[in-house]
Amino acid sequence: MKKIIFATNNQNKVEEIRSIIEDFFEVISLKEAGINIDIPEPHATLEENASEKSKTIHAVTGENCFSEDTGLEVEALNGEPGVKSARYAGEGKSANDNLQKLLHALKGAENRKARFRTVISLIINNSEELFEGICEGEITEVAKGHLGFGYDSIFIPDGANKTFAEMVLAEKNQYSHRKKATMKLASFLSTVGKNSCI
Ligand code: IMP
Repeated sequence: MKKIIFATNNQNKVEEIRSIIEDFFEVISLKEAGINIDIPEPHATLEENASEKSKTIHAVTGENCFSEDTGLEVEALNGEPGVKSARYAGEGKSANDNLQKLLHALKGAENRKARFRTVISLIINNSEELFEGICEGEITEVAKGHLGFGYDSIFIPDGANKTFAEMVLAEKNQYSHRKKATMKLASFLSTVGKNSCI
């Protein structure tokens, strides 16, 4: 089976993407590739951050690879935390600190609409392709569920009646931003990239 490096140190993301494309590609995490780099996310857009990550790993390995960056965009907060989702409560704060800050910012708000947006950057044959996946939904009043990661326990996707953190992965994948972006990546790789993966 063809292999491709996924430029992330987030094991949850590796599991999610692996569960989506494992029948077609062997996804190699940075750890499995023996690469120990903490890639910064200094930019103002998900696209630029995703690009920086895949270009950095491509420069180190010379291999085809992809990365992704995800943000939670809340309508009543003008799209915040967005690209700053990982550091919303400040540098070094936990996922729980981030979601508590968000619940606080939305306290009493009627408009709780939000969306997860994932951007995948693929470097293949020395050129870049971007793929986007969006999941619309809303922010709960309190956290619910213990599965998943990040903001999963406060996000209910449209069409569901429970949070991502109350869903097993197969169920989250029916709605998820990452699944949508990953399906675009897989479809591209299976056509244009046919013989191009390592
Ligand atoms: P990043 O893409 O790793 O920079 O993630 C940005 C922030 O969003 C981090 O706090 C993640 O934990 C969170 N995040 C990313 N993807 C998801 C998801 O699928 N569900 C919940 N939170 C997520």
